[in-house]
Amino acid sequence: MLTECLGLPHISTGEMLRDGIRHGAGIDAAVAATMHAGSLVSDAVVDSMVEERLGRADAAKGFVLDGYPRTLAQARHLWDWLKRRGIPEVVIHLAVDYNVIIARLTGRRECPRCGTPYNVALRPPKVDELCDLDGEKLIVREDDREVVIRQRLNAYETETRPVLEYLRTAGGRVIEVDGSYDPPEKLYRKISQAIENG
Ligand SMILES: [Zn+2]
Repeated sequence: MLTECLGLPHISTGEMLRDGIRHGAGIDAAVAATMHAGSLVSDAVVDSMVEERLGRADAAKGFVLDGYPRTLAQARHLWDWLKRRGIPEVVIHLAVDYNVIIARLTGRRECPRCGTPYNVALRPPKVDELCDLDGEKLIVREDDREVVIRQRLNAYETETRPVLEYLRTAGGRVIEVDGSYDPPEKLYRKISQAIENG
């Protein structure tokens, strides 16, 4: 919703990495194994992937980064990159209760054929466990299993939470939004209001 309204590309490092694994494009087996274990992929891999993406024509007027920066080193890298180019930023911190996150992620399903995302609680398919578009049996992504999710939350605490502090200290414009209970439409309104008011 945000990227549509702003007319900017949505750049998701998670999607880029998963696409890379699916198509075998430049992502090696070690990176795939790291992701499947719920750990974070190395900074150098992600930094160069993002830089390459931000250099494309459609990102010239701006972009929405999703899932990046995720570590302190990535945040420093991105911050320098932005400041060197004089690009202003808004940091949106979506805070969600951990129990809510776990319930939400374990409900996620994905069509292995066309990639359409579903959620058994929030966005169920018309027929149980089957894709609306092509009838393929839906799958649980390897990194959405609960044990992997807990690993990802640990990685968030130790590696990503310091990013927020770094960006605040560096003078970044940080917007706090509670994302625990509101539907996407309401969250979208909260975020665009916060951007306008800030
Ligand atoms: Zn499908």
